[in-house]
Amino acid sequence: MIYLKTEEEIEIMRMSSLLVCATLSEIATILKPGISGLALDKKAEEFIRDHNAIPAFKGFHGFPASLCISINEQVVHGIPSKEPIKAGDVVSVDCGVCLNGFYGDSAYTFVVGEVSADVLQLLRVTIESLELGIQEAKFGNRVGDISQAIQDHTEGKYGYGVVRELVGHGIGKQLHEPPEIPNFGKKGRGLVLKEGLVIAIEPMINLGTRRVKQLKDGWTMVTQDKKPSAHFEHTVAVRRDGGEKLSDHKIIEKSVKNNIELTKID
Ligand code: MG
Ligand code: MG
Repeated sequence: MIYLKTEEEIEIMRMSSLLVCATLSEIATILKPGISGLALDKKAEEFIRDHNAIPAFKGFHGFPASLCISINEQVVHGIPSKEPIKAGDVVSVDCGVCLNGFYGDSAYTFVVGEVSADVLQLLRVTIESLELGIQEAKFGNRVGDISQAIQDHTEGKYGYGVVRELVGHGIGKQLHEPPEIPNFGKKGRGLVLKEGLVIAIEPMINLGTRRVKQLKDGWTMVTQDKKPSAHFEHTVAVRRDGGEKLSDHKIIEKSVKNNIELTKID
């Protein structure tokens, strides 16, 4: 059942989505070599609760933390650990909150220290593919229009691996609602996008093979070839002229720019 939102509900979801990005922005101020994922997670949970919201991931199907922190070959669903983050790591941080009964969901991949040009390109192209997907999130288009835009740019143009096992999703009163938003597919196929539909678009793009596997912890997804992976996500309202981002990465990027331990992606 697809649940279409009213404008008032979309405004509430904008607040939820902006709180997610404010949380990721907080993380970007303290992220540096030597800090642990657990320390980042603690900071995020405090920040979210201080803003009268609930961390969406904590306890979701039993997930133990408020953030998913996925480093290097980890694609998504990494569990924050006490292991120190190192210079040269790419760190995907995925965050969700529930505020006033509605969810927001967004993710950003940070570069700690410096990484090779090919990894920086992977991150840049993944961001570009997210933007191309968002442009297709307009009335009358279909889910497949979003999917193909992302796949064409990443797999078609750059030969990257588009993860098949994990997809974007509808979002609202639930963290995950129908429809699924795959990052691969065919233009003109799938559900027609209607006014009031809010979706999380989240390309998960691998430098090498698209193949992934789950670690024994029952959560962490990693690339089979151990090459790095990128993940960026926005919560998006479907509009007449293309998707409107309810989340905002600019506030995260401002913190990245001000943190000399991080490399800005551009
Ligand atoms: Mg997410
Ligand atoms: Mg999501």
